[in-house]
Amino acid sequence: MGKWVICAAWPYVNAFPHLGTLIACVISPDVVARYLRLKGEDVVFVSGSDEHGTPIEVEARKLGIEPKKLTDELHSYVSLLFEKFKISYDNYTRTENPIHIRFVQEFFMKIYENGYIYDENVSLPFCTKCEIFLPDRFIEGTCPYCGYEKARGDQCDNCGRLLDPLDLINPKCVFCGSKPTVKVTRHWFFDLTKLSEKLHNFVMNHEHFPPSVKNYCNAWFREGLKPRAITRDNAWGIPAPFPGANGKTIYVWFEALLGYLSATLEYFTSRGEAERWKDYWLNKDCKTVFFIGKDNIPFHAIILPAMLMASGEHYVLPWQISSIEFLMFEGQAFSKSRGIGVWADEALEICPPDYWRFALILLRPEVRDLNFTWKDFYRIVNSELNDNIGNFIHRTLSFIYRYFGGEVPSPSKLNVEDEEFKKTVESAPKRIGLQIEKMRLRLAAEALLEFSSKCNQYLNLKEPWRRIKSNLEDSSTTLWLTANAVKALSILMEPFMPDASEEVWRLLGLEGSVHSAKWFEAASFNLKPGHKIRKPKPIFKKLPINFVETVEKQLSEVRSKLKRPKLAK
Ligand SMILES: [Zn+2]
Ligand SMILES: [Zn+2]
Repeated sequence: MGKWVICAAWPYVNAFPHLGTLIACVISPDVVARYLRLKGEDVVFVSGSDEHGTPIEVEARKLGIEPKKLTDELHSYVSLLFEKFKISYDNYTRTENPIHIRFVQEFFMKIYENGYIYDENVSLPFCTKCEIFLPDRFIEGTCPYCGYEKARGDQCDNCGRLLDPLDLINPKCVFCGSKPTVKVTRHWFFDLTKLSEKLHNFVMNHEHFPPSVKNYCNAWFREGLKPRAITRDNAWGIPAPFPGANGKTIYVWFEALLGYLSATLEYFTSRGEAERWKDYWLNKDCKTVFFIGKDNIPFHAIILPAMLMASGEHYVLPWQISSIEFLMFEGQAFSKSRGIGVWADEALEICPPDYWRFALILLRPEVRDLNFTWKDFYRIVNSELNDNIGNFIHRTLSFIYRYFGGEVPSPSKLNVEDEEFKKTVESAPKRIGLQIEKMRLRLAAEALLEFSSKCNQYLNLKEPWRRIKSNLEDSSTTLWLTANAVKALSILMEPFMPDASEEVWRLLGLEGSVHSAKWFEAASFNLKPGHKIRKPKPIFKKLPINFVETVEKQLSEVRSKLKRPKLAK
């Protein structure tokens, strides 16, 4: 049994997740975590809300409340959404949890003592009216490269360039609009240059990192790694533990990365076995997999390993990074301000979570940017879920219920077609599993559909509804085989559609839960003749024929009724 930590990127708590976030960092890791558990692997699946830093501080100031009050509300709202999407986190926590805070402080002190951190005076914009420094998003102005007027101190959202706050033309304080002055302040830097060679070898010779990760990092290596400031003058954050750093906090990016470790520690602490987190993070055989958006690659492939190396402890370094390209929405980028896209809470008002989970996996942008369209969604729900998977399950169960009194019939001797079908079922878990292990989740979902299509083809070929009168033995064999194929589907669907798979398990009259079944049990044909099933009913519902034309209207009605935590922006 292998040990795994499945790490889902920590969403920034004031950005409600939209479909793109869901597929990159929420549903994908859940599919993998569920699959590995079914395979009997030892899995810890962690994530949490990234809640410190400038944007929350800005937001809370605008609302006139304490940052903690704001993040309490946002964290519980987002956590509940993920629960509704059936995301099987072992621990979905937050950066304000005391275990994380202590872990981060101790960790950074270790790096400091090992000589990787130094301090230096830097000039930063300062608002004399608000009496605060204005790094990152506290300051706005015109981008010196592209002329975009709302560029931030850390980045221009228009041309994507990283900026220094002092580069901005006509800079303004985001709170009061005043023109900032420049003031000298002391900051602490993580000296990445000392680890350059080790990091370069780690990334470029990595056995599992995909080319996309290596290419992205190579751009950083070519420019040369530079020391990065790891402190900020924000009040809202984890106090920097370094001597002389009173009033400074750790930059969110650096502390949130350690959340994967502290969340594992917190999980085992809550179970009264605090030391067990070391069996994962300090175990060279443990595999850590990170699900992130592609813009976060350098932080996970370079900065996190750098911190782990600098600690001097033998932490396990990232085993795999699964980042995807961008998901577009009807040809455009998701935009909250322009109302383009669908957000997690809205999505659930339109369709059950399984429909979204499966559709998004099928549209997962694994090799290039992909476009979500309502037309595709409609096709996936109606043709794939209903006409393909749902139809096979319902036809098989209804037939057994109607013609065999709800008891799985006995097989006779299998003919060539039966044998071939049996082999199809037996090979399905391996075929689908292989793609999941390669993090090609879209191909895995396609393999599931292909399997279900073959089930339908076999049923159509055998026509038990016609043959039952002339050849009962043949029909009995067919239905014994397809009943076992339904059981296989129930297990193989679990990582993608946990609710529907459990419903199929229940209709099959099976004991316990599909969530604790074994992946390769799908190939076992252990549904015995005489086994009693329950009264069948359809697993999925079709979307109405005018769905594509009416969904945007439905969505705007949903939007007006949602009770989200209030944000100032
Ligand atoms: Zn100001
Ligand atoms: Zn720009």
